[in-house]
Amino acid sequence: MGELYKVGVIGWPIEHSISPPMHNAAFQALGLTNWSYDRMAIPPDVVGPSLRTLRDEGGYVGLNVTVPHKQAVMRFVKPDERALALGAANTIDFRDNTATNTDVAGLIDDLRANAVALEGEHVVVLGAGGAARAAVYGLVHAGAVVSVVNRTPEKAQVMLADLTLSAGIRGVPTRSLAEAAQDEVALIVNCTPVGMWPHEEACPWPDEVPFPYGATVYDMIYRPRQTRLMEKAEASGGRVIGGLGMLVRQGAASFAIWTGVEPPVEVMFQAAEAALAARQ
Ligand code: NAP
Repeated sequence: MGELYKVGVIGWPIEHSISPPMHNAAFQALGLTNWSYDRMAIPPDVVGPSLRTLRDEGGYVGLNVTVPHKQAVMRFVKPDERALALGAANTIDFRDNTATNTDVAGLIDDLRANAVALEGEHVVVLGAGGAARAAVYGLVHAGAVVSVVNRTPEKAQVMLADLTLSAGIRGVPTRSLAEAAQDEVALIVNCTPVGMWPHEEACPWPDEVPFPYGATVYDMIYRPRQTRLMEKAEASGGRVIGGLGMLVRQGAASFAIWTGVEPPVEVMFQAAEAALAARQ
């Protein structure tokens, strides 16, 4: 057997991650039998030393990074322009100690794969956390006209001020849901955990605000596959897309960085779907 190439995902907790079956299915499908992907629970206080150990002693080629380490790892690697703009990285390549953020590609590639028009369209982003940052960055670069709605408006303002400084993004307003819904809305991207298992009854769009007729909903949540928000959009004549495709496509972008090989997206999608189904 030749050289072994190890990759994996770090987080805290990490048992929930479906990235290992997804990547391992991709390695298998392409005959990359000397590649493997595993998950590692790393507590927040030892992120730096853990990265060193995994690289120098563990022989890892690279890593995915998930909650809560996406910001913390930035100090220990060379972040690229996109990771710097977002203040967070989710993919590390130890061969040159660089890091990037593939969440943007995950979302935008999935919207494009689903033929959702973005250029010049009004898109309402719900949330102001890490996922919303990636969404605003990607959507603005794709030519969308973005509004941000967040439970805590001040946090949205901080996010947008950061994006202005780090990425030159200007003119994105924070609005109330009712205000944002008054304009024609083409797409709503849910970047909050509201409606996620085990709180499936929750919905980030309250009943008292009329839902914009025909608006498409992209819900980053993938458990459940159909959220209350998606039900609401369908009842108002809109298309709905769940977040599993984003998860798969951000993983596919990491896969391409590590292996230099075109990722088998459909294989990864099916493996992710099977891993999720096995949990339910
Ligand atoms: P985060 O940094 O913790 O941000 C969460 C955001 O949701 C904040 O803006 C927060 O508002 C808002 N929020 C939380 N609870 C709320 C509630 N009860 N009512 C209204 N707003 C609420 O989380 P994140 O990393 O951005 O992730 C957000 C979601 O996206 C999660 O469900 C995550 O699983 C999902 N996600 C999916 C993918 C994918 O590949 N599909 C990738 C990344 C993230 P405040 O500012 O007011 O606290």
